[in-house]
Amino acid sequence: MNCLHCGRPLPAGSRRDRSYCNSNCSARASDYRRKNGIPLPPRWQHPALTSDIPLLRAAAEQARQLGEANGWSSSTTRCAIDGLAVLLDGRPGGVRVTLTEIRALTPRHASAPRVAEVLAGLGLLEDDTVPAVRAWIDRRTAGLAPGFAVTVSDWLLMLLDGDARSRPRSATTIYVYCTAVEPLIGRWSASRGHLREVTADDLRAALDELRGHPLRTAISAVRSLFRFAKKRGLVFADPAPAAERCRTGAQPTADDR
Ligand SMILES: [Zn+2]
Repeated sequence: MNCLHCGRPLPAGSRRDRSYCNSNCSARASDYRRKNGIPLPPRWQHPALTSDIPLLRAAAEQARQLGEANGWSSSTTRCAIDGLAVLLDGRPGGVRVTLTEIRALTPRHASAPRVAEVLAGLGLLEDDTVPAVRAWIDRRTAGLAPGFAVTVSDWLLMLLDGDARSRPRSATTIYVYCTAVEPLIGRWSASRGHLREVTADDLRAALDELRGHPLRTAISAVRSLFRFAKKRGLVFADPAPAAERCRTGAQPTADDR
């Protein structure tokens, strides 16, 4: 980049929105414009604002508006957009960004809380910190039938915290497992009062309606749930292996594990 007034190269390491080599050139350029009635040149804007990637463009625009509304300095906004560019690069639309990722990947010159604020405004922030996941488990399991809620909640908290035999699982696993068992529990609670009353037939009937990826996820989730419940003496028998054997034996597919 060269100075817009004298044309000399700008000093190395200049801010990206710098247009003049010094305040002298900037003042002269401004005098010249005033005398000749020339409008201000367009202001430098972050390239992300005109990016080809719709998600990044939307995020950059959100940062610009948020910064304007909250009085962020132009450099705070610019750096927040830098952070967004790193985090959103190559990310498929609709996949939320976790706070853990934001903390790990936001470049050092950008503010992680500002980046998180922008993503939250777009509905793209996932707070995967332990207290947030804990609160989420409380809310979600509160909607389950009483004979199931406590067991499911204890199970998810065990996954979250880990125990002597298993490492703590990620927030994503908690969300995926909970979402996979919810419809099954909803179905069983119509005729069963407690998890211990669920039979291998019940399990098989529920899994029979699923195919492909949802089926594999549901199998992993119920295996984990029943293993947990059995270990804690909350169910008498573990119907999961039987149901799974039946299921995979009946319809083996190439990508079944
Ligand atoms: Zn100059």
